[in-house]
Amino acid sequence: MASMAPEALGALEESLMTQIETSADFVRGMVADDIKSGRFDGRVITRFPPEPNGYLHIGHAKSICLNFGLAAEFGGVCHLRFDDTNPTREEMEYVESIQEDVRWLGWDWGENLFYASDYFGQLYDYAVQLIEKGKAYVCDLGAAEIREYRGTLTAPGKESPYRDRSVEENLDLFRRMREGEFEEGSHVLRAKIDMVSPNLNLRDPVLYRILKETHHRTGDEWPIYPTYDFAHGQSDSIEHITHSVCTLEFENHRPLYDWLQEELGIYRSQQIEFARLNLTYTVMSKRRLMELVEGGYVNGWDDPRLPTISGLRRRGYTSAAIRDFCDRIGVARRDNTVEIALLEHTLRDDLNKKAPRVMGVLDPLKVVIENYPEGETEQIISANNPEDNTAGNRNVPFSRTVYIEKDDFREVPPPKFYRLSPGREVRLKDAFYITCTGVVKDETTGEVIELRCTYDPETYGGTSADGRKVRGTSQWVSAEHAIDAEVRIYDHLFMKEDPDDVADGGDFKDNLNPDSLKVLKSCKLEQSVKDAKPGARFQFLRTGYFCVDKDSTPEAPIFNRTVALRDTWGRMDKARSRG
Ligand code: ATP
Ligand code: MG
Repeated sequence: MASMAPEALGALEESLMTQIETSADFVRGMVADDIKSGRFDGRVITRFPPEPNGYLHIGHAKSICLNFGLAAEFGGVCHLRFDDTNPTREEMEYVESIQEDVRWLGWDWGENLFYASDYFGQLYDYAVQLIEKGKAYVCDLGAAEIREYRGTLTAPGKESPYRDRSVEENLDLFRRMREGEFEEGSHVLRAKIDMVSPNLNLRDPVLYRILKETHHRTGDEWPIYPTYDFAHGQSDSIEHITHSVCTLEFENHRPLYDWLQEELGIYRSQQIEFARLNLTYTVMSKRRLMELVEGGYVNGWDDPRLPTISGLRRRGYTSAAIRDFCDRIGVARRDNTVEIALLEHTLRDDLNKKAPRVMGVLDPLKVVIENYPEGETEQIISANNPEDNTAGNRNVPFSRTVYIEKDDFREVPPPKFYRLSPGREVRLKDAFYITCTGVVKDETTGEVIELRCTYDPETYGGTSADGRKVRGTSQWVSAEHAIDAEVRIYDHLFMKEDPDDVADGGDFKDNLNPDSLKVLKSCKLEQSVKDAKPGARFQFLRTGYFCVDKDSTPEAPIFNRTVALRDTWGRMDKARSRG
């Protein structure tokens, strides 16, 4: 392609060249260089290789957007490959949820859905080839001994007494391992590399171990399973993956990755490492998420407090916001932790454009408008989205009794409180000015349970003809027309930015936020949301973005608060730039 005359470039090539010139991060830079130099014949094949042992989280989204994004930008393809080589922890439930999540994020693997378990036969043959080359041997040391013989970063390893078995003996033992003749832990197959290598991964790493477990796809066909190191690179090679993008902890595995493909003389892929995503106030590893789910600390993998894709989706996140977030954080080689406020900020940006505005009252206080005719209803016109002038208006019914937020009234208003209090006039959003003329209290508790007000019929639409100004505006819902709903308000799952910041002997779970979920049972919502389907999103004026929960029904509506309106990211950003 590099030799092609510019006028011969088609549209795809042209966009490729633009991409190459503007590569935004080092991974894209490396891929662009490979295309320019003609390595891999200019092809780009990436893969996203989840192990189906849990649900995907937002960290995986970063990897998904990178791998599928690279393929899309460079005219290549991205494979979805299940790295299902460990039968003890894997389940079909996870295989299905992972596909659903990748699709929901908006990516398409087309025909390129693969399973490492489909390569078990080929991987076995590769292992036999290594044995025949004298590059692998069956070792009878136990796991603890293997660890002991491996040495440390400062101490060299020691060779296994089984290291010099003959090829014939190794072939025979490996075949018998495969036939299920030996017990778990009695034998492993190891690569024969270098027990004094400074890289511990090259000190005769284990390639196969005996596991008498039923695999979710291959059943009881195999009593031996390849390790990650043996399965991963060879699967990449089988699929002709050009760029195998993974997280930094595999950097020290790259020499082994290369050694294996080289010794086997098979298709060579390029492993490239990048920094994994960490987020404040949450945990990201599947092991920990599993612990929270199985220990009942949250309500399942799709609990809206979790950073799982399914949790974020249930919470009301859009896939566009998650992809935008992945773009904004970029791809680098240095480990860092991103503030969760940036994720929320990105979400608000998206919802602000998309979510229709409605009125809802989360903690209702009854207001009776004494001079409003009994039994009458009129329609108030309200804009569906002031940020989107194509969104139109809707009618909101108004009547003699309405609800406002308890917080929007103070019997004794503190300084700078501009909302309702006895004798004061405020605006009911888009409707009328009202003045508080009386307060009804619960006789025993003294709590304010109802307000008596009057309204000014000359202020329809929320403006007064005589130019009279009011400082406060409240959202409201007509009592007669209101929908009763449950609303779930979420806060960070952990109280500390770093959940691992615990006292000696403590555990990340010590930092769980006891107030991460508040359930409000008696919310009053505007009639227009009555038929909203699970997943539908709204902005409730002044209280945040909300989404209909998957368990919601017309009889018992449930809304999740996706995110509050207040944007802490903007403030933090300003504080930063002020220095
Ligand atoms: P976890 O550590 O959460 O259990 P994992 O790495 O074991 O994740 P895999 O199923 O093996 O999970 O991951 C699939 C792909 O997603 C891998 O390429 C992995 O590097 C990548 N990935 C996992 N976590 C993150 C993260 N936090 N940021 C970026 N990429 C990630
Ligand atoms: Mg893993």
